[in-house]
Amino acid sequence: MAPAVPTDAMPAHTFDPTILREYDVRGIVGETLSDEDARTLGAAFGTRLIERGGRSVAVGYDGRSTSPGLAEALVDGLLSCGLAVRQVGMGPTPMLSFAIHHLPTDGGVMVTGSHNPPAYNGFKLTLQGAPFFGADIQALAGLADSGTFASGKGAADEIDLRDVYVARLAEEFQPARMASIAWDPGNGAAGDVLNLLCSKIPGHHHVINGTVDGTFPGHHPDPTVAENLAELQAHVLEHDCELGIAFDGDGDRIGAVDGQGRILWADQLMMLFAEDVLHHLPGASIIADVKSSQALFDEIGRLGGDPLMWKTGHSLIKSKMSELSAPLAGEMSGHIFFADRYYGYDDALYAAVRLLALLERRQTSLAALYDQLPVMCNTPEVRFPCSEDRKFTVIDEVAGRLASANADVTAIDGVRVNTSDGWWLLRASNTQDVLVARCESGDEEGLSRLKQDLCAQLAESGLSPPENFL
Ligand SMILES: [Zn+2]
Repeated sequence: MAPAVPTDAMPAHTFDPTILREYDVRGIVGETLSDEDARTLGAAFGTRLIERGGRSVAVGYDGRSTSPGLAEALVDGLLSCGLAVRQVGMGPTPMLSFAIHHLPTDGGVMVTGSHNPPAYNGFKLTLQGAPFFGADIQALAGLADSGTFASGKGAADEIDLRDVYVARLAEEFQPARMASIAWDPGNGAAGDVLNLLCSKIPGHHHVINGTVDGTFPGHHPDPTVAENLAELQAHVLEHDCELGIAFDGDGDRIGAVDGQGRILWADQLMMLFAEDVLHHLPGASIIADVKSSQALFDEIGRLGGDPLMWKTGHSLIKSKMSELSAPLAGEMSGHIFFADRYYGYDDALYAAVRLLALLERRQTSLAALYDQLPVMCNTPEVRFPCSEDRKFTVIDEVAGRLASANADVTAIDGVRVNTSDGWWLLRASNTQDVLVARCESGDEEGLSRLKQDLCAQLAESGLSPPENFL
């Protein structure tokens, strides 16, 4: 991408309202999202940066075919505000976060469609180290409509941070022995830096789907869906690897399988990371989202930590984390945030290296640790459609009935209902027209009763349970 030429102030422009979402800007390229949107977004976000005293911004993009063009238009808009634009090029989202801290810059924009299908693309925004979301994003629409953008003469440069980023990751892991590790970045944006990382850390590395390809020819780049881990599981078993590690399309979410091909979901990985952090930071606060297993919160407490259950959503988790100075936080969706020896953002490559380092410190295998994890009977996160205008009222109705029945409810995000059998969760997604449910018990009979409780509540609000749920 050539450095853009400084331009005059941008004209007013109206966004398609569907692209301004809770945590990011995202749309279908050519339908709801255009280069003009990217240019205007650059001017609007750049104006906010300038208003808050910012002068510089880092820009990166993922491996989708539409990303370089959108990034170029975005940079145009940022330059029109008079900002210094540091272009770090193609890479995973955490490399852009690294750039913001390392260079440093006053903000950053990552052009990425994350784990979504190839036709999608979008923008993740960071302003002065803090997530930019919710009302911040909505307010950009008014600014774009009015066209009252900051105007100035900006300057752009290109900077390749791959070596310094990978060197920072590799610092965490200098093992005495050579492990055999399978990696699956799913043809996502982490591919290139992963290959570089594998050349820097000792071990026998098997990288599958390592070529960056925004059409995602191998499988959908979302490691929270079991079928997307099937290729990695097969590779681990076939090549007798000690473990396998997968990333999502932009490298901010992790998935893992042990040497027997068993999947460790994010709340199980968090039990291992909690031990690792509490090992040298006794008593620390550790945050996990409301979808996580009770076994995780119990385990943090057992290890002497201070567990906190919080709302789902990486921006919300990140804000809570800095409020509490928590060294570690995680979400079921695979976002793991280390502020312990790192910068507090969700970097799946960093989490992977920490996983390898903790296995080295404990001189054990992931399969051996898996065998020590508490055995729980739980459902995965189950999502089912519910209209935009009903999703929050359904939660209110359920909460109202539970309150009249004096049920034990945790109301951090939706309803998480505790019974003698375990717990069930029902919450409205902030990003899609779906309700999200999860149930967990110590045994199958308890799990079945919890599912029935949940379905009875759905029925009272006129909804049927998700398919194959019972
Ligand atoms: Zn992602």
